[in-house]
Amino acid sequence: MDKTGSPSKKNIRDYWWKSMVQLNENIVGIDAAIFMHPTTWKASGHVDAFNDPLIDNKDSKKRYRADVLIEDYVAKIENKIKKEVTKAAKRFGDAFDKEQFLSANPRVVEYQTKAESILKRMGQSLEKEDLADVKSLIEELEIACPETGSRNWTDVKQFNLMFGTKLGASADTAMDLYLRPETAQGIFVNFLNVQKSGRMKLPFGIAQTGKAFRNEIVARQFIFRMREFEQMEMQFFIPPGTQKEWYKYWKEKRLKWHQSLGLGNDNYRFHDHDKLAHYADAATDIEFNFPFGFKELEGIHSRTDFDLGNHEKFAGKKLQYFDPERNENYVPYVVETSIGLDRIFLALFSKSLQEETLEDGSTRTVLKLPPVMAPTQLAVFPLVKKDGLPEIARKIVEDLKWDFAVAYDEKDAVGRRYRRQDALGTPFCITIDHQTSEDQTVTVRNRDTMAQERIAVDAIGELLKEKLSFSELLKKL
Ligand code: ATP
Repeated sequence: MDKTGSPSKKNIRDYWWKSMVQLNENIVGIDAAIFMHPTTWKASGHVDAFNDPLIDNKDSKKRYRADVLIEDYVAKIENKIKKEVTKAAKRFGDAFDKEQFLSANPRVVEYQTKAESILKRMGQSLEKEDLADVKSLIEELEIACPETGSRNWTDVKQFNLMFGTKLGASADTAMDLYLRPETAQGIFVNFLNVQKSGRMKLPFGIAQTGKAFRNEIVARQFIFRMREFEQMEMQFFIPPGTQKEWYKYWKEKRLKWHQSLGLGNDNYRFHDHDKLAHYADAATDIEFNFPFGFKELEGIHSRTDFDLGNHEKFAGKKLQYFDPERNENYVPYVVETSIGLDRIFLALFSKSLQEETLEDGSTRTVLKLPPVMAPTQLAVFPLVKKDGLPEIARKIVEDLKWDFAVAYDEKDAVGRRYRRQDALGTPFCITIDHQTSEDQTVTVRNRDTMAQERIAVDAIGELLKEKLSFSELLKKL
């Protein structure tokens, strides 16, 4: 039985895969290589343009992403706005109109204007590669090293995030390679393969999940930013000129997917980009309200024909589609959805882990994961370690383990066993007692409500099927 987070991660990956590949006739899945020919990364623009602006503090010797320092400054302004709203909501009670307050309160309007103008200036400077102005902005805002308060900064430099490695046995013949910084390029180079062998017609998508690697300047905030992480990406190939409508479609679809997890719709927001990446004509982030503020969870990008067009040029091979309706060949446009599996895991975990005070004043730690995402789906307890109860419990585990993730626990009092499973996020526990051998019923206890009811042993499988199936979630999409 698994008490780690990996089954949850797998469940999230499965949910994404089902919602993309299983539910859409026109989306297929692939599993491309991590190593690709180095020219791939030249063609994709990553070798030349996959950079982050880096700044060092001369006193603390700490290294930061200049854009993140500025964004954190803006987040503080946004927090001040939030505080004003909370204060006013208390003051005005039921009569409070949030929208009106946001547009009319002079202090809030001033904060808002300031935040917007900072982000706009940063976006424009990064777009023009005017790194001196990014530094000026940091100085004008008097941003200090978060660890020491020092404002003694170096100039801002570009830092390439590609992870280099070597292929080959001897140093002189070895070939420089890169680990992939995103899974998307494996999809682009396989576009024609998939389209031809699957006889796919536009619009259609290719989805894949897998590891990606980035030499991040700073990797911190738990698993929010790592150098090795997993992505779930889908590239949707479309006729040129239809990108606006598909971009809108996938924005809405993906937001709905997140909301279906039940973490609270207020915890998501779109952040449309001012500064566009080298490949995009429109881009947005779905941001999530992490414990450290709203941050990117998923990116949705309208990538035009940038990638396929460039691979065509560098490979000297056509990557075109013949459109029978338009009666012409063209390089398709692409709308991409790209989400970090580790980030969604963090999102789920951070909202689900709760400390509850019960009616009797005691507390319990409970991981209120959506039941289908829980690592263990059912825990089975014999009330006592004698009178044949462990044998009955073991038999139930044996019968159910083929379809569900089941745990067996006989240690300590039942109350303590419940608490242990609460903290692990197990949605249901069943207890076998002396009545079980008489009438073949057990007690089922619900993690969230803590309510207990008696059901027949034969009905456990059905109950789990009903409560733990992906289909209920998928139907909401
Ligand atoms: P950020 O601005 O946070 O660096 P990004 O805009 O570079 O992210 P994308 O290139 O759009 O990110 O990558 C798509 C998704 O991959 C992101 O939305 C995120 O969920 C995930 N991701 C990107 N970098 C990392 C990382 N270093 N660690 C974990 N997940 C990541």
